[in-house]
Amino acid sequence: MIEAQALRKRYGANEVLRGVSLTVRRGEVAAIIGPSGSGKSTFLRCLNHLETIDSGAIAIEGEPLVATDAAGRCVYVPDLQLRRICAKTGMVFQHFNLFPHLTVLENLIEAPMVVQGVPRAEAVARAEALLDKVGLAPKRDSYPARLSGGQKQRVAIARALAMQPAIMLFDEPTSALDPELTGEVLRTMRELAEERMTMLVVTHEMGFAREVAHTVAFMDQGELVAARPAREFFADPGHERARAFLNHML
Ligand code: ATP
Ligand code: MG
Repeated sequence: MIEAQALRKRYGANEVLRGVSLTVRRGEVAAIIGPSGSGKSTFLRCLNHLETIDSGAIAIEGEPLVATDAAGRCVYVPDLQLRRICAKTGMVFQHFNLFPHLTVLENLIEAPMVVQGVPRAEAVARAEALLDKVGLAPKRDSYPARLSGGQKQRVAIARALAMQPAIMLFDEPTSALDPELTGEVLRTMRELAEERMTMLVVTHEMGFAREVAHTVAFMDQGELVAARPAREFFADPGHERARAFLNHML
């Protein structure tokens, strides 16, 4: 479960998040759509502490990561706790960010071994099961440069899953892919959703949002202006800018 409440974030004079609130319940999928520069990536990055917030509150799986005290000061939990809570979220980026000098299997076992202290044999077994799941068992010993974009992204998803997160955050996972490779990545994500992984997905794939997401939210100029059940959202997003954006996308 993700609970974000009234998040504010500025870069200098640029107020990028202006009081963003969103709850994603356990086992549900939320999709965020919205124009470039509206703050979607920043919001995601705040949720797993790749960015700090200026005020607001975030809780992951019911555990507070950061809260704002009565004096308006933003207080993060101590470092050790912060790291433990952030480990509950896995993130997949637009540009796969695989380690180029490691094979597919090595990409998957690195963090479990180094960060979680998982014994090698167990990390390998976990990795092989995940590669099987994303349909890439035969690519186990290939280097990322030898994979297609869609394959790289599926490895990136498997790598995030290797840390056994409770929540997966996706930041436009298919927007760097050729259209014919998008489907295989969306299929992997859809399977995850069917297994009831809690997911927050920034995407331009309206079909995916409509069919897979429970909640769809529209972000514009640092505000989440419409968050409602997917079916309702696509019938009527309830907000003029969201409607204009949808008309443009569909
Ligand atoms: P896109 O659809 O293009 O990915 P986005 O909705 O993800 O856009 P963000 O990347 O969150 O938007 O950016 C929101 C705003 O914050 C933009 O105005 C951007 O220029 C600014 N911004 C993002 N990261 C930084 C940073 N590290 N330093 C300064 N400004 C930043
Ligand atoms: Mg972005």
